[in-house]
Amino acid sequence: MKGAIVAVGREILTGKTLDTNSHWLAGRLMAIGIRVKRICVVDDVLEEIARELSYCFSLGLELVITTGGLGPTEDDMTLASWAQALGREMVLNPQALEMVRSKYQKLYRMGYVDTPEMTPQREKMAWMPKGAQPLPNSVGAAPGMFMREGSRVLVALPGVPDEMKAIFSHEVQPLLVEVLKERGEGIVMVEEVIQSGFKDESLLGPLVRKIMASMEGIYLKTLATHFGPDVDLGVRVEAWGKDEREARDRLKRAVDALEKALREAGSAEN
Ligand code: ATP
Ligand code: MG
Repeated sequence: MKGAIVAVGREILTGKTLDTNSHWLAGRLMAIGIRVKRICVVDDVLEEIARELSYCFSLGLELVITTGGLGPTEDDMTLASWAQALGREMVLNPQALEMVRSKYQKLYRMGYVDTPEMTPQREKMAWMPKGAQPLPNSVGAAPGMFMREGSRVLVALPGVPDEMKAIFSHEVQPLLVEVLKERGEGIVMVEEVIQSGFKDESLLGPLVRKIMASMEGIYLKTLATHFGPDVDLGVRVEAWGKDEREARDRLKRAVDALEKALREAGSAEN
């Protein structure tokens, strides 16, 4: 499957924000066997976003992922652009509305917002093109979007990197793996959690990144908790392959490399 990433946001075009989302997404898509053929940045202008989405389709790219422009403000219009490019109407999605509503109730209980009510701005985040599947956002308020139309897969993710990464990892990746399987481009994913014996994620990070850069078809994620003397950070090691054997093989090599690196770095555990 071939795909495109469209980063939406004037702040990228004006040099205020570096488009790290596309960089991260490209790596994750490659790891599951999707070839990214195009990455571009567009301004917060409805027609310009819609035109780029249509252009990606015209290139025969079957997966198009946008990041940015899902928030409550006027300049967040990515979903309306999706609707325009697909020729679908925007509707208030009941599942998305429930996600936004319960999110603000939770934020209110935690004292982060002054009112739990659904304002028009909050409701705006639940308007999606007809037929869209909303994706829960465990970090922020705006749900993501997943949609299939014929052989095409359309995904909208928020711009805030932590939200984008959470929705991709928890929601989008498993859905994409299903799509790839259906298309006979299936991959098998296996994973294992290793206790690192490290307390400090900032020390573990470089080690994990080095292993990731050294092998194909793997992804390592440190599982952050809190700071304290009792902490033993876990590292989730994920591996992909065209079949179970290749995936297991990669997993073993990655786990061996991680354990070796931890020993060398003087882990308390290994
Ligand atoms: P929000 O709900 O916060 O409005 P959003 O989905 O509308 O989220 P944007 O308003 O486009 O996202 O961006 C929010 C912030 O996320 C930006 O100010 C910027 O710091 C960061 N951001 C947006 N796009 C990117 C990107 N492509 N790469 C890295 N950071 C980004
Ligand atoms: Mg915004």
